Amino acid sequence: MVDRYWITFFVLLSCLVGVLDASAGDADPLYRACVGQCKKTGCVGETCFPHCKFSSDGASLDGPWYMQEPLYLQWKQWDCLSDCRYNCMLNREKEMASLGHGPVKYHGKWPFKRLYGFQEPVSVALSALNLVMHFHGWLSFFILMYYKLPLGLDKKRYYAFTSLWHIYGLLSMNAWFWSAVFHSRDVDLTEKLDYSSAIALLGYSLILAILRSFNVRIEAARVMVSAPLLAFITTHILYLNNYQMDYGWNMKVCLVMAVSQLLIWAIWAGVTHHPSRWKLWVVVVGGGLAMLLEIYDFPPYQGFVDAHALWHATTIPLTYIWWSFIKDDAEFSTAKLLKKMK
Ligand SMILES: [Zn+2]
Repeated sequence: MVDRYWITFFVLLSCLVGVLDASAGDADPLYRACVGQCKKTGCVGETCFPHCKFSSDGASLDGPWYMQEPLYLQWKQWDCLSDCRYNCMLNREKEMASLGHGPVKYHGKWPFKRLYGFQEPVSVALSALNLVMHFHGWLSFFILMYYKLPLGLDKKRYYAFTSLWHIYGLLSMNAWFWSAVFHSRDVDLTEKLDYSSAIALLGYSLILAILRSFNVRIEAARVMVSAPLLAFITTHILYLNNYQMDYGWNMKVCLVMAVSQLLIWAIWAGVTHHPSRWKLWVVVVGGGLAMLLEIYDFPPYQGFVDAHALWHATTIPLTYIWWSFIKDDAEFSTAKLLKKMK
């Protein structure tokens, strides 16, 4: 059983590495020439962009002095580059389509159509819905813990994982917030924030999977398990942000963390007598299938819905079931402890 997991895992890994290497669009010399020209003139064909007005030394031509601060200039240059890339991409895609060629990726992303300035409107909306689902789940967990379940002596809660799930809720909402921002506008800063929050969430939920499934309650044991993982996650985030944004390496790290926690929950669901273990199964199987969408990455339908957007859609019902499992777990563990004490 475990062997089969590892084989699947390595097949998935090699597929992902293959997919990530291919970004044919921005290697195209015609596209490169168009972007290079646009950065100089601020125009693609007839369309010109106000963000692209720089003087030869790189300072802004118009606007008061306080608008010429470096940070503002950086934003402006990002916006200029992003507009140039977007319009060159649309032009190239139109030409390619008229020659009968399908869409290709640019800078690791499919050609999306913008809507009201949003780069990937469907992914933005779905990220926001994920955020809402996590808020709803976390809030109902909060109400259960603080208003419904009984407290023990010296006001201690019977459920030993309460604060760990609170942190999980906060990290989830943070990650989906930055995901929505990143899909609205893909620039260096938003990309780093999105990646860092997603890695933090993924790493933390791996720690949580280990602590809960092995029922680690002793503080010292918890520290021993989580310290090396926390150190690795922190180093990984710092490496991506300050040294090199290595997409291939990051994908491997994320995949290993995701597959190992799915495995941990799957094995636990297989051996435990937890009354809500079927919810675990739904999330593990659903999460595994959803990961396939990231691997069989198809171009956006009508320029809007791609595999990644669908992946964000599948996590919405899974989030609902997941929080419902967490609440069941809190109730079940409390009831079990109370029964033992009687
Ligand atoms: Zn996303």
